[in-house]
Amino acid sequence: MVHFVGAGPGAADLITVRGRNLLEKADIIIYAGSLVNKELLCCARKDCEIYDSSGMTLEEVIGVIAENADKETVRLHTGDPSIYGAIREQIDALDRLGIKYDVCPGVSSMFGASAAIGAEYTLPGVSQSVIITRMAGRTPVPERESIELLSSHGASMVIFLSAGMLEELSARLISGGYRKDSPAAIVYKATWDDEKTVMTTVGDLAADAAEQGINRTALVLVGDFLGRDYERSKLYDPGFSHGYRREQK
Ligand code: SAH
Repeated sequence: MVHFVGAGPGAADLITVRGRNLLEKADIIIYAGSLVNKELLCCARKDCEIYDSSGMTLEEVIGVIAENADKETVRLHTGDPSIYGAIREQIDALDRLGIKYDVCPGVSSMFGASAAIGAEYTLPGVSQSVIITRMAGRTPVPERESIELLSSHGASMVIFLSAGMLEELSARLISGGYRKDSPAAIVYKATWDDEKTVMTTVGDLAADAAEQGINRTALVLVGDFLGRDYERSKLYDPGFSHGYRREQK
């Protein structure tokens, strides 16, 4: 049995209780060494075999799992496994081998980042949608999902895997409809001890990141949800009734 587990964004106590229980019981742990906090490995059993997948291929990862098919393996991914986690190809390989699996969700870095700056992505009167995307790099992005096209919605945007391409990101956001002075934030290593947050604008993304020495392990947040203006929620509005509360006159 294989358990895909979300390790959370960084801080070791942001793994779920279920994820931690699975780590404590595992015979084998294969963790994404580039971004998973190694403190999490402290709760592994003494006789647990631990592999860092950062230097391994998909075939090697599946090889370790297959050799230990009768054991409990935890495949530990950073954040939530469903976001840029490359779990689908592993799941398909396990299906072909007839090995059972389940997935334990994790706190994505996009939530570590919003927590770090106290932001709400879905701000009434501003945006009710969040676009999770990345710049095309060595991994291509479909043309219909270009930053320009996605920017035209004016929705809240969370841009992964792009901290090394901020000049280009900024130019594309602007050609898609954001203003140079539209609010943006860069959150480096959200929830880690060396977390850094930079409140900036779309036009100043590259300069401000360079000043802070940030070029990786960061998220770029863009949108007016980072600005000052919004409407108050209906949910807690005294003049609004819903299933749990009557309007107050
Ligand atoms: N599954 C992960 C994302 C993996 S892709 C998740 O849900 O968070 C790796 C990218 O995620 C990095 O390049 C960076 O853009 C972002 N990232 C991961 N951890 C981060 C953190 N603690 N702070 C900021 N960005 C992070």
